[in-house]
Formats: sequence, C-alpha cells, structure tokens
Amino acid sequence: MTLRNSLPVMTLALWAGAAPLASAATAGNAAVEAASATAYSSADFAQCLSQLRGQAIKQGVSASTYDTYTKDLEPDLSVLPLLDAQPEFKTPIWDYMASLVDDERVADGKLALQQWQAELSRAQSQFGVDPATVVAVWGVESNFGRILGGRPLLTSLSTLSCVGRRQSYFRGEFFSTLKIIQQEHLGVERLNGSWAGAFGQTQFMPSTYLRLAVDFDGDGRRDLVDSVPDALGSTANFLKRAGWKPDMPWGFEVSLPDGMDTSGAGRRNKQPISTWAAKGVKRADGSALPAGDMQVALLLPAGPSGPAFLVTRNFDAIYSYNAAESYALAISHLADRLRGAGPFVHAWPTDDPGLSRAQRRELQTLLIARGFDIGQPDGMIGARTREALKSIQRDAGLTPDGRAGMKSLQWLQQNAPAEQPTTSGAASQ
Ligand code: CA
Repeated sequence: MTLRNSLPVMTLALWAGAAPLASAATAGNAAVEAASATAYSSADFAQCLSQLRGQAIKQGVSASTYDTYTKDLEPDLSVLPLLDAQPEFKTPIWDYMASLVDDERVADGKLALQQWQAELSRAQSQFGVDPATVVAVWGVESNFGRILGGRPLLTSLSTLSCVGRRQSYFRGEFFSTLKIIQQEHLGVERLNGSWAGAFGQTQFMPSTYLRLAVDFDGDGRRDLVDSVPDALGSTANFLKRAGWKPDMPWGFEVSLPDGMDTSGAGRRNKQPISTWAAKGVKRADGSALPAGDMQVALLLPAGPSGPAFLVTRNFDAIYSYNAAESYALAISHLADRLRGAGPFVHAWPTDDPGLSRAQRRELQTLLIARGFDIGQPDGMIGARTREALKSIQRDAGLTPDGRAGMKSLQWLQQNAPAEQPTTSGAASQ
C-alpha cells in the first residue's frame, strides 16, 4: 500500500542533506529542457489550463477558485528535468545513511522529543505511533521544519499537469492543491514545496493532505506548514492508516550464521521469526531472537556482506511514506538512535565510509580553501562540489567519481593549503 504515491519522490531533507540519488542538471536534461521551452509556450499553457477547468470543477474545485488562482499562472519548465532525472550515479546506502542519521540530527531530534513531549504523547495515545518514530519522520522529511521547499505548488503542479510524463497523476494533485486553498484557508503564498508538490513539515502530497492531515492543535485548521502539532499528529495518523501496529518494533539488526543461504531475503518475503531463528539468525549483539511467530523479512541493504535486518510490517508502514527501503531504514534507525541506541553493530561493506553533514561542510570548507568556487559550505553535495571533488580525487590518486567520502575528506585534511605566515611568524613550525 502506498498512501503517498508510487512516484519515488526525493524528500527535501535528502536533496539538502545527502548526495542526490538523481541529478537535476545533467547536460542531456538541460538540452531536453531547452527543447521543451522552445516547443511549449504560455499560449499552449493557457489553453491547457482552460481545458482542465471543467475537470477541476467536476472534482470539487469551484469555478471562482479555479479562475482566481490560475489566471496568473505561468509554466515552470524547470520541473521537467527533475521529473525525468536519471541517477548520475547510485548513491551508496552508507552515504545516504551517514548524512540522514548523523549526530546533529540525533541531537536535534532529542530536543524535539522534549519540546513537543505533550503533543507526541497525545499522538501516541490517539494513533498508537511512538514519539521517536514520529520525530524521525519529521527530521528526515523537513529537517524538523527547517527545509520546506520553495517551489510554488500551483506553478509546479499545473506545469506537470500539462507537460511531461504522468500528467493525469499531477492533475489530481493540482486540483487537490486548489481544494486546499478553497476549503482549508491555507494561503497560496504558504503552499510551496518540492518540485513534485510535497509540502509542509511532513512533506505530504496535496491529495495525502486532504485524506490524512489532522488538526492537532485544535485551532480548526489543518496546517502542515506552520503548525508543528498538526504536522506531528498528521504523521502519526499517516502511519496508523498505513498499518502501524502499536508495540511492535520496526525490526532490528541481526547477525547471520556463516554461509547462510540469503536467497530468501527481501522485504516482502515475511516468515515467522522462529523460521529465521531455526536458520541460526541472532540479534546483532549475539542474543537469541525473540520467541513467537511475528512475521519478519530479512533485509540486506548492501548485500550479504553488509549489515542485516529483520523487519516487520511497521517497517512497511514507514516505507509507504516514501517508497524506498533505504528511506525506511533511515527513519527506523534514527528512531532507535533517538531512543538511545548506538550505531549499527556491523559496518557497511566499504573502506571509504560516508560523511555526516558536519563532515560534508568540513570537506566543502577545505575545497573552498583550495580555491574552488562551490558556494557556501552548506553540506549539500551539488554539481559544483562534485566537480571540485573529481579534481582533487585525481590529485589524490582516488577514483575521480565526485563522491564525497571519507577518503577524500581525509586527503583534504592532510593536504590543506599552508596557512599564510602571520606577522609574528608564529605559524611556522
Ligand atoms: Ca491546526
């Protein structure tokens, strides 16, 4: 069950905090964009909007809402390359996890647990979802409300309703956005989000908002943009509706016996936990698996030589928030860390681990010190940071792939440009 949608939507925190899984601006896509821009005019767009008017009204948008909020719209064709983006390189799971679940986010999450304790506890009694899980989703989706996305929803969604793949899907979201404005009194100026239309602190799609958002602060409005309680309650409601079972873990890390046949791995292949115990699977600390017949699946995100997990249907509920197993693992692990657990017991199978956001900023600062023009050290590994990295990786004898990993950071640390001598000469050693 996918409540959000079947489109793999990159969360904003991922765009901001991790190496993108897909690049927005490859040369090929730029060419496509240029071609689309010349082929698609404002007049074409106006004609499309007038064709969609009847359909919108049939779906509950009033004529006056439609006319008022579409009359000044212009297409934004820059969303098209994002829709069609192909991964430039596949982000290793250890990079993804390192930046999404880092010490900074654990510390921020622990503060959030304290600050919103009353609301989180109320959400737990009403929806059955524990505070750490709700806060973990909030932290990954919008970095605790700090990154909401800046693209006007009506512009992006009307464009995607008229041009490109999946127009019928985006029309539903476009009309849902108009209904939000009409019914919920959320100002159009507050409805900004990702290129695909996910918005607010929970990054719900507009149709998901209409279905699942709740007014949790009792002011009569469902406001996922400016109300943290509404965002936390809505996330808990989402997970409940996605099948969350109270008092069931998402799963846990395990150790596999040497030589175990792992062909039965896969999130969908759930078996009674006793079946896995009989194969010799133990908890990662070496203790026995819990007794009982809980249905769990073996997850091997980096193959048989990496960390292994047994996951329950609660893992599937998180997966339905954003259809990627790596996403669900990041939320699950962050929730564990917020409850006081440590990092995974088993290391990822790499000799070049991923970087936290603090380490990414340090890497960028070191690149800037070497004269690379990559903007501010914001921890976001964009195209300019990757190009600069390729250059230093060539100097360092590393694979010039532009990936921000530990080896590149260490090389930069060890080969930092010498400081300018001070007038006192104290810098010389
Ligand atoms: Ca409210």
